[in-house]
Amino acid sequence: MAYDRNNVFARILRGEIPCRKVFEDEHVLAFNDINPQTPTHILVIPKGEYESLDDFAERASETEMAALLRATGRIAREAGVAASGYRILANHGANAHQEVPHFHIHIFGGRNLGRMIGKTAG
Ligand code: 5GP
Repeated sequence: MAYDRNNVFARILRGEIPCRKVFEDEHVLAFNDINPQTPTHILVIPKGEYESLDDFAERASETEMAALLRATGRIAREAGVAASGYRILANHGANAHQEVPHFHIHIFGGRNLGRMIGKTAG
């Protein structure tokens, strides 16, 4: 499947849609989720055109990969959730209910997140 250049995160990267930015460098942009599930809910995305982790893991350079993971750790630390604990999550595809087809890492924190994963919807 070809990368959809009109997905909402591609539009945020182009500045066509506003976001509440928390971090940016050459390879990475991070911003607050529009519909936060936890007191801290940040989305960390690569600037390159990757649909999901599956695509990113296959095609991204080592530099892009390192930049994304290092930024994720730094953003969580700077958001103040490293000491209390946080969870990262990346949805890929239908069973994971991925909504936006541009690879993103969620950072959840700011409250007790419970254990791991919820029950299936049915
Ligand atoms: P997914 O289910 O694809 O892993 O998560 C997509 C996330 O993107 C959701 O948590 C949703 O609230 C968030 N989101 C969707 N549209 C926008 C938007 O326009 N701006 C921001 N900041 N977040 C968005």
